[in-house]
Amino acid sequence: MSTQLLDGKACSLALEKKLAERVAALCARTHRTPILATLLVGDDPASATYVRMKGEACRRVGMASLPITLPVTTTTEELLQQIAQLNENPDVQGILLQHPVPAHIDERACFDAIAASKDVDGVGCLGFGRMSMGLPAYGSATPQGIMHLLRAYDLPLCGCHAVVVGRSPILGRPMAMMLLQADCTVTICHSHTKNLAEHLACADLIVAAVGKPEFIRAAWVPDHAIVVDAGYHPGGVGDVELAPLKTRVRAYTPVPGGVGPMTIATLMQQTVMAAEAAFS
Ligand code: NAP
Repeated sequence: MSTQLLDGKACSLALEKKLAERVAALCARTHRTPILATLLVGDDPASATYVRMKGEACRRVGMASLPITLPVTTTTEELLQQIAQLNENPDVQGILLQHPVPAHIDERACFDAIAASKDVDGVGCLGFGRMSMGLPAYGSATPQGIMHLLRAYDLPLCGCHAVVVGRSPILGRPMAMMLLQADCTVTICHSHTKNLAEHLACADLIVAAVGKPEFIRAAWVPDHAIVVDAGYHPGGVGDVELAPLKTRVRAYTPVPGGVGPMTIATLMQQTVMAAEAAFS
């Protein structure tokens, strides 16, 4: 069986095309343009780039963004006030708080202050709990984008053994819950996991969300596995040593061009859904 490349760039463009049609129809019907507010705290260049890319994606699908940049000295209280104002603003249908915020800010409190109806990046506890229970909710954008990509390629998930490496609130943890909802048998690995290689040896699907360049060695990955690499590091490498796997595994996401574009397209999709709900 030949290896399948899971082309997140192509899949995201196809999704954006459909979203642009939905936005055009919504604007024509309501004479309103959906707006995603983006909150960036501090001057981290990578975060600034991600926020800019999200604003550009809004424009590609016919929406607008409302970029708000706050100084690195912003307090939790000040950020909560800003979020409260955006929650109340009827012109704003989605709110993105770019992760990570500076360490002195209580990020969880700020994520959870975003109104569930505007939490289009899927970062709140309420949405996580609802998603975990199989109830309607905006999913955390990166794992939701990964689910979209796996489904777009019709990969069989029911009954497969998924090993998620990483358990962060916005990636590994919701990923595991989404795969459980898709009837996978899920193993979650983290920094205290013993014998990671042994867990990976019996995986049908591996999601790498570790944040360490090429941490998952190719030798640990079985031939039949589907490999999803959420990592992105300078030099264009991810969290998996991908090069030796490109001819050997069942399917893999490239870095770049795999998970990253799907994250942004999913944020757009959920903003369109929020606007459709708000304008109805
Ligand atoms: P994170 O918050 O730093 O979490 C990393 C996770 O990896 C933690 O759960 C940690 O375990 C686990 N880990 C660390 N060392 C480990 C080890 N030796 N063995 C097993 N697990 C280990 O990172 P994140 O925000 O989830 O991001 C993960 C990666 O995804 C990063 O490369 C990031 O750049 C990328 N990312 C990409 C996108 C995108 O749109 N493409 C979006 C978000 C993140 P503990 O919980 O025990 O500490």
